[in-house]
Amino acid sequence: MKESINPYSGEKLFSFKELDQRGLEAKIGLADACFSKWKHTSFAERSVMMRKAAEELKTNKRSYAEVITLEMGKPISQAIAEVEKCAWVCGYYAQNAEGQLADELVETEAQKSYVAYEPLGVVLAVMPWNYPFWQVFRFAAPNLMAGNVGILKHASNVMKSAELIEQVFTRAGFPKGCFQNLVIGSEKVESVIGHPSVKAVTLTGSTPAGASVASIAGKNIKKSVLELGGSNALVVFDDADIDKSVTTCVQARFQNTGQSCIAGKRLLVHEDVADEFLQKFTDRVGKLKSGDPMDEATFIGVLAREDLAKGIEEQVDKSVEMGAKLLLGGRRKGTYYEPTLLGDVTPEMPIFKEETFGPAIGLTTFKTDEEAVALSNTSSFGLGVSLFTKNIERAKKLVPRFEEGAVFVNELVKSDPRLPFGGVKISGYGRELSAHGIREFMNRKTVFID
Ligand code: NAP
Repeated sequence: MKESINPYSGEKLFSFKELDQRGLEAKIGLADACFSKWKHTSFAERSVMMRKAAEELKTNKRSYAEVITLEMGKPISQAIAEVEKCAWVCGYYAQNAEGQLADELVETEAQKSYVAYEPLGVVLAVMPWNYPFWQVFRFAAPNLMAGNVGILKHASNVMKSAELIEQVFTRAGFPKGCFQNLVIGSEKVESVIGHPSVKAVTLTGSTPAGASVASIAGKNIKKSVLELGGSNALVVFDDADIDKSVTTCVQARFQNTGQSCIAGKRLLVHEDVADEFLQKFTDRVGKLKSGDPMDEATFIGVLAREDLAKGIEEQVDKSVEMGAKLLLGGRRKGTYYEPTLLGDVTPEMPIFKEETFGPAIGLTTFKTDEEAVALSNTSSFGLGVSLFTKNIERAKKLVPRFEEGAVFVNELVKSDPRLPFGGVKISGYGRELSAHGIREFMNRKTVFID
């Protein structure tokens, strides 16, 4: 049995009976049967349905957002924004998939040679709870448009969201089996990946879960994409616009109550501007409004589960024991953890070294560009980095030196349907979104006509 528990009130919300082996086989069989027809539909037919999915999300955004907020504690205004973003990605791929998957002509000695993009079949998506709608839609919109079909193993604490996502596609007119939610635990993932009808797997989640899924996929010679954890640095140079950087850094760290893979998790600030930055940053963080996630005015909600709140508490406490200075926050009450700021942070401390999945951040100062690059790159994660400087030429020269999937200058790292998204190092491999994302689970067929 899977259960959703409201992390703000502790109330039990929904329960779901897990699929038994026969039920699971039936769903995979249905997906495979659906694929044999779906792959022959035209882009025009698919895009009509995908646009309907976008409409469904826009029309009922409030009710979908409420379930997100109830299940994982995200403030309601941010949950509504998440549902709107899902509508955006559906609209984006409805519009662009055909062009992104058009044959690519290649000049050779043949009469004609080209690369054709053909769908692989049933793709399994293993997804996390932190953006329970967005993570799924950024997989589903490109893949359904590409002619693949999707089966979803969502995080155990957001199974109602998973059910509703299936409902969005059903209401939009997608055929039965095109997108299905599987109510299963992670112990069943191995057998699903190994199923002959399942052709590929994508996982968004923690690094240990990614390592497990990738090794199972490898054993079965199946393609995998991994979107894993991150520990992005926010690098504030001595010529940065301090007011603007403070605003962006607060948003980068504290939105979604700090539970984002691409959140800015390490503040690296040039020593010449550190005092001014710190004073303004502390002031701003101290004013963030915590409260009931259902209240429109709340910016900081609760963490999705109490064990997650305890985890961040331990990381902060251990860092303080190791010499970090507690400048703000640091207290936990149940699933709530105060927005927290540490100073004098060094690379050995958990707040710097580990991924922190909650509203806490540590500040480390640097003297030179070299030192800033080295501090940022010392992380074993490689999802993204934000650089703050008024000197764009300086930023452009520094971009190639950062070992990251993305570098954003004077902006927080964010996902956007038009741009590829993904990491290097232990943040994973493969890309989602844009033309790069839609091509991940395709057979790039070489055609040579003499
Ligand atoms: P998680 O514990 O790894 O869970 C993610 C999903 O994987 C859930 O559906 C989970 O199922 C499943 N899972 C866990 N262990 C598994 C295993 N050994 N084999 C197969 N499936 C397994 O991660 P989370 O706590 O939900 O999410 C937070 C993590 O996700 C953070 O590290 C965050 O940085 C990362 N994340 C990355 C991105 C990105 O795009 N790079 C985006 C968002 C989040 P159960 O719930 O049933 O355990």
